[in-house]
Amino acid sequence: MKISITKTTAPKEKPTETPAFGRIFTDHMFLMNYSEETGWRDARIVPHGNMSFSPACAALHYGQETFEGMKAYRGKDGKCYLFRPEMNARRANFSNARVCIPNFPEADYIEAVKALVNLDIDWIPNEPDGSLYIRPFFFADDPFLGVAVSKTYQFAIIMCPVGAYFGAFQPVGIYVEDEYVRAVRGGTGQSKTGGNYAASLAALTRAQENGCAQALWLDGVERKYIEEVGTMNIFFKISGKIITPALNGSILAGITRDSILTLCRDMGFEVEERPITIDELASSAESGALEETFGTGTACVIAPVSHFLYKGRKILVGDGNEGKTSRNLYDTLAKIQRGDMEDKFNWRVPV
Ligand code: PMP
Repeated sequence: MKISITKTTAPKEKPTETPAFGRIFTDHMFLMNYSEETGWRDARIVPHGNMSFSPACAALHYGQETFEGMKAYRGKDGKCYLFRPEMNARRANFSNARVCIPNFPEADYIEAVKALVNLDIDWIPNEPDGSLYIRPFFFADDPFLGVAVSKTYQFAIIMCPVGAYFGAFQPVGIYVEDEYVRAVRGGTGQSKTGGNYAASLAALTRAQENGCAQALWLDGVERKYIEEVGTMNIFFKISGKIITPALNGSILAGITRDSILTLCRDMGFEVEERPITIDELASSAESGALEETFGTGTACVIAPVSHFLYKGRKILVGDGNEGKTSRNLYDTLAKIQRGDMEDKFNWRVPV
């Protein structure tokens, strides 16, 4: 793929302190357009700035869009790495297929990310948890106010320098949402499409009003089985076993989830991917069997959970402090991501 590059003539000041997540953008962005006649065309990197589309743009009205989240890390060895980018490229196409956005060549996807990271590599914050958060996204831009599959699209990549997502590995409280639901089997829950996140905001607001960082979703039919958290998959350590909800058709297949499952099996843990109910969680907390809980996601890597709030009741996880296994998994994954440890599973991709 040929990528034309127009460099900014006005480079921005880079932040000197840990930037707030997702608010500061690097100097450049990647853009590409699609039409039925030309296919994907005009790969270009230009200065980061506002984009142009019609007020009738299909994505604005009917949400035909998808996105990904990935990171670039600077290792102690001075090299820059992506983490399993082929999984993001594949999931992008999986998401695209669900909302009728044309397939994008996966090798070109990774090439575009690499080209942009290369250009803005100096934006990776020089701090232990620093990385570049990369946001590739697709959207339908037909100027047409009818509900229909768009004929034209844009693909873009923007990037933000980021530090630790929830602060430095602080255990967070999670609100168990028992009224609203996020997704149902056959819906779009397995895809990273904006509507899922729009549907999550009322619950997030409620979680925050109750002093919690995120909402935990229960299944959309019985509101009984645990699904996932706002932007994380969820793991429990119960009586020494690692348990996470099975991918059932409404949960996002997290890349961190997959990596943690692999690491846990490699560390010799017994691992179960299976349905788990909120009642099982509450009773295992009561009996003292619930040792640890953590969320997994690209933004936070691993977020330890101190407690859940369910129907006004507090479910305490262990003693409410960070758990040994969560910490060990975080350290291991962070070291692999940053080139600070043997990459046994071939996950790192140098930029
Ligand atoms: N679930 C949801 C709903 C998410 O948005 C994310 C973040 N992409 C995750 C789980 C975690 O996925 P990953 O580990 O690939 O970042």
